Amino acid sequence: MTFKSLKQFLNIKMRMTGLYQYGSRDHDCPFCKLTKKRILWKSPLLMEVKDIYPVSKNHTLLITKRHVASAEDCTAAELRAIILRSKITMKSLRKLDKKITGFNLGFNVGESAGQTVPHVHFHIIPRRAGDHSNPRGGIRAVIPGKAVY
Ligand code: 5GP
Ligand code: ZN
Repeated sequence: MTFKSLKQFLNIKMRMTGLYQYGSRDHDCPFCKLTKKRILWKSPLLMEVKDIYPVSKNHTLLITKRHVASAEDCTAAELRAIILRSKITMKSLRKLDKKITGFNLGFNVGESAGQTVPHVHFHIIPRRAGDHSNPRGGIRAVIPGKAVY
């Protein structure tokens, strides 16, 4: 079998390996338009970038390459990649900044849960002792007044 171009060869290879479905992009989406310069690391499924409006220093996002809105629509491979990568990212952030003492991790799913960019992204938010007067409850604080029990 011969291939007319590298592109044709890669398309066939991607279909065979199941990667073809990961090609979906939306031209109006900020995460589909990220420039190479902004991407700190990438894999066939994910990109890692710094959040441009960070909640804390080095707030990092793991973003699926595929344009899909909800974490519920992620494939098992994407979810696995996000969790495994988050472990590596946390380790390297701790190495970079010795003041980091913890993290808040997570997805916002849907507008009512606060999601503003409808392209799956996983927040890695470094925390430092004393950055909040009462951090108890962490992500439970998404509903004001409910975090502490
Ligand atoms: P969400 O509220 O959807 O869970 O979070 C969206 C996140 O994306 C926010 O933390 C926001 O600061 C970040 N963000 C929005 N636009 C851009 C962008 O163009 N580039 C990067 N790196 N982050 C963005
Ligand atoms: Zn997108």
